[in-house]
Amino acid sequence: MRILDACGIMDVTPDERFDRVTRLASRFYEADVAFIGLVDGQFQSLISLNSDALGRNVPRRDSVCNMIVESGRPLVVGDLKTDPRLAGHPLVPHLALHFYAGVPLIAEPDLVLGTLCVMKREPGDQESFDLAPLLDLAAIATNEIAQWKLNLELKQMSEIDSLTGLPNRRIFDDAFERAIRRTRRTAQPVSVLMVDIDHFKALNDLAGHQMGDRVLGQLGQLLASTPRRPLDTLARIGGEEFALILPDTDPAGAKMVAEALLETLRQAEILHPAGGFVSASIGGASQRGAEASASALYLAADMALYDAKRGGRDRYCDQLASPV
Ligand code: GH3
Ligand code: MG
Ligand code: MG
Repeated sequence: MRILDACGIMDVTPDERFDRVTRLASRFYEADVAFIGLVDGQFQSLISLNSDALGRNVPRRDSVCNMIVESGRPLVVGDLKTDPRLAGHPLVPHLALHFYAGVPLIAEPDLVLGTLCVMKREPGDQESFDLAPLLDLAAIATNEIAQWKLNLELKQMSEIDSLTGLPNRRIFDDAFERAIRRTRRTAQPVSVLMVDIDHFKALNDLAGHQMGDRVLGQLGQLLASTPRRPLDTLARIGGEEFALILPDTDPAGAKMVAEALLETLRQAEILHPAGGFVSASIGGASQRGAEASASALYLAADMALYDAKRGGRDRYCDQLASPV
């Protein structure tokens, strides 16, 4: 089974479309707990969880649902505490729940998004459990997720900057908020890079605005062509300013990305009419966990960019927005 490259849905705010499904599942099965568990390479994240009996995030490999994710098949366990399939499981002894039934959310023949599960405090009979309604509800949940993704893609298409072909400021702001919610949820660090072209006003003044536009387009392409991870977001956030949001990336990782971008630009050898080649300065900042805030991170990256300009341009500087 393939697993979804996290597309951001794990970081959605509560959504009635998903809550409706878990409410129905919980009523129909008279369950104490119902949830949709979405997975990516590392984590399982529970959305539309109707109880405090479970944590919202666990490493995927520690979740009971991972058995469904890896097999792509439903799993019904009459009693988690005594079932030999779960002997030695790291989380099961800590749960105040016994009965478990879950089905996979399968988007394409071999792409699993996560699970829809119901759980009960008391043990139950796994032989007589009727999976059909849970499978129907899982199909509805899968459609809702597909719709959510499609809406996101359409929105992104409408928010592309025509000069560079990159996402614009609105996408950046949305992705930034999602990245902040992610670090609060997972405590993985998040980094942001602000890229500003050096002496661009002089380029415009000496070579003309049209040439300036062409260089912006070239730079956008160069930035877009450097390898990035699926969750990263690159955007044009201002006139000749670009930004990169790097979820799950610490200061050392952010520095590597920034240095690679600067090197790509150097190697492109785009002539600057004032002499030499077009260069850029990059400011970076990182944060982690519950105190993360978009405004603090943005401000720190902006200050780092200022440091890079003051330090002579064509370089990377960083700041910590809070301890990472
Ligand atoms: P620094 O090295 O300090 O960044 O110097 P700079 O000249 O690049 O200074 P600044 O970042 O303030 O300059 C921004 C310039 O970018 C001003 C404006 O003429 C130019 N600019 C902004 N948007 C566009 C655009 O869409 N097309 C073109 N051609 N130029 C733009
Ligand atoms: Mg600028
Ligand atoms: Mg500039």
